[in-house]
This record gives sequence, C-alpha cells and structure tokens, in this order.
Amino acid sequence: MGIKGKVAVVTGSTSGIGLGIAEALAAAGAHVALNSFTDSESDHACARRIAEAHGVRAEYLQADMSRPDDCRSLIERAVEKFGGCDILVNNAGIQHVAAIPDFPPEKWDQIIAINLSSAFHTTAAALPRMRASGWGRIINIASAHGLTASPFKSAYVAAKHGIVGLTKVTALETAEEAITANAICPGYVLTPLVEAQIPDTMERYGMDRERVIREVMLERQPSKQFATVGQIGGTAVFLCSEAAEQITGTTISVDGGWTAL
Ligand code: NAD
Repeated sequence: MGIKGKVAVVTGSTSGIGLGIAEALAAAGAHVALNSFTDSESDHACARRIAEAHGVRAEYLQADMSRPDDCRSLIERAVEKFGGCDILVNNAGIQHVAAIPDFPPEKWDQIIAINLSSAFHTTAAALPRMRASGWGRIINIASAHGLTASPFKSAYVAAKHGIVGLTKVTALETAEEAITANAICPGYVLTPLVEAQIPDTMERYGMDRERVIREVMLERQPSKQFATVGQIGGTAVFLCSEAAEQITGTTISVDGGWTAL
C-alpha cells in the first residue's frame, strides 16, 4: 500500500522539519493537515502552496500543542475535513537552553507539554481511527538528544528520551496490526529552531557564528554538515512505504554519525 491518497497530520508544520516532512509526504501523494499554534494568513497560504504544487488536499488547522484538548481536537478536525488520519507525524517542538538551577520551571513544563505530552494526546486520538481503517503510521520526531545528552538542555533531552519510550510502547500496543510507530532522531538541522540558539551559544562560548556552528553545534556531528529538512522528509516517506512495514518501535538516526561516537 503506497502513500498516495493517505491523510497525514503533521504537527508544527509551518516551518523547518515539519514543513519539510509535509512537503515530502505531499510530493508522494498524501493529503496533508498542516498545524501550528498561530492562525496567520501565511499559515493558510503555506497550505494552499503545497496543495497547488503537489495536486493534493492541504489545509492549515490551528491548534496549540501545549494544550491536551487542542491536540486531541486537531485529530478530530482532520478526520472531519479529510475523512481519516492515516499518518501522524508528531513534530512540534521548542527548545530552551539553561543550566538546571537557572532553568525556568514554566519553560520545563512547556517543553514537556509540547515536545512530549502532545504526542501522547494525538496518538490516543488517532489510534482508533487508524484501527478503523486498518492501516497507520506514527512517526515521532525525536532527536539525537533522544539517545544522548548535552548540558543545558535538561527539559529537551528529558522530553526527547521520553518520546523514544512512548514510540516503543505505541509499537508494542499495535504490533499485530498494520500500524507502525517509529522515531526519527535528527542531528542538527539548520531550521529556525537551531538558528535561534546561535546567538546564545555565541555569547556562552565567546565565539563567532562560524566557530559556533563548526566547533560547538557540529562538534558531535562527524560529517560536519547539517542534516536537511528534505532528508528528514525522505526518511518519513520511507517509514510509510511497504519496505518499512516490519520496522516498528525503533529509532532512525539522521545525524551524520553523531550517535556512532
Ligand atoms: P522550528 O522552530 O523551525 O519549527 C517548529 C514548529 O513547531 C513550527 O511550525 C512552530 O510553529 C511549531 N510549534 C511550536 N510550538 C507549537 C505549539 N505550541 N503548538 C503547535 N505548533 C507549535 O523547529 P524545527 O527545528 O523544525 O524542529 C521541529 C522538530 O524537530 C522539533 O520537535 C525539534 O525538537 C526536532 N529536532 C530538530 C532538530 C534541529 O536541528 N532543527 C534536531 C533534532 C530534532
């Protein structure tokens, strides 16, 4: 069974990796629900552009992934609009960088809510629908930080390790069905989320931009290259393919060798 005609919901997909995944799934023939917490004209324009470029249905659905009710209603609204939810990509995520004693408790709660708990809520809402149609793909966007740690990213690393655990449980609960659950673990991808970390890191290490990229960010990425949103999108498309039918409950690293170190 191919991707053509399937319905994909991609959380946090107006920018960066989520947008790259939505584009790749649309290029493979899936209808896509785009999401973010904003509701601007550019969000809807993004959906129109994808629909026109790939000849699929694409709609923007506003929902704040820090709110459990929004997470669940996003899936319900996608089912109403598109008639199903076959592919769920839990991608929405934020970052905050600070040492543990200085880490604002409200930032901790927000990161756990958006980067981890949202995937629990969307999965809970999507699974009955996937079971009803007899096919489903759940793709959680974890991180190399779902498998390893770095200082100053306590909430992010905890959430990403958590989502790897959630992925395994989801896979075990669906193991005998035509539903798979996997996590993609990107290394550094140059998106707005990463761009936003550069000024703080320059200040923390007293380095210029080029040195921060090569010596701090890509220090643990042996390829010394950022991964691209297209590569993450291609990995998501692969996980939806027939070749990946027996791949479930695992992580796929797209990290230039980071986790081989
Ligand atoms: P990004 O900032 O470019 O995009 C994040 C998206 O999430 C945006 O569309 C944003 O609007 C949305 N979002 C943020 N808060 C939201 C909320 N409350 N509700 C709904 N949507 C919300 O970030 P990115 O780099 O593309 O990251 C996407 C995912 O990939 C995140 O889960 C991130 O942790 C993960 N990741 C990124 C990298 C990287 O190097 N960029 C590496 C590993 C993992």
